[in-house]
Amino acid sequence: MVTVKTVDELTSRFRDEGLRVTPQRQAIFRLLHGVDSHPTVESLFESARAEMPTISRKTVYQTVHDLEEMGEVELLDVGTGSIRVDPNVEHAHQHLVCTRCGTVRDVLLDVADLRVPARYRREFTVEAVEVVFRGVCEECSNRHQPTPCQPTP
Ligand SMILES: [Zn+2]
Ligand SMILES: [Zn+2]
Repeated sequence: MVTVKTVDELTSRFRDEGLRVTPQRQAIFRLLHGVDSHPTVESLFESARAEMPTISRKTVYQTVHDLEEMGEVELLDVGTGSIRVDPNVEHAHQHLVCTRCGTVRDVLLDVADLRVPARYRREFTVEAVEVVFRGVCEECSNRHQPTPCQPTP
């Protein structure tokens, strides 16, 4: 369902663009492959550092921006306070955002038919539609379930 480019595919895309591919950059490609968790750049940096202690924050930011320029990732602002990296650029999709933990999940949903009423279209040209569903993820709703009253002995 969610297809993202493999490390090898991204490596050759980078080389095609004349960009250098370092082991650090490949570590970031690896971290982005197959994720649908929409990591923040900061959390990508943390995970990259765990497997490659010499990697710099600057390298992570630069790589993410190069990927965005090549159209391989999308940088999303879904109101969680940080930019999220979305490697799922092949399928049009919308997002579920947990208001408690900030988890962002993909939801496949066709919004192509969503239209603003005609009177707005005269003054405004719509170029893109984004739908964000805000709510509580399963993990958070389990964690915050009120505990049933214990009978007092
Ligand atoms: Zn949550
Ligand atoms: Zn997404």
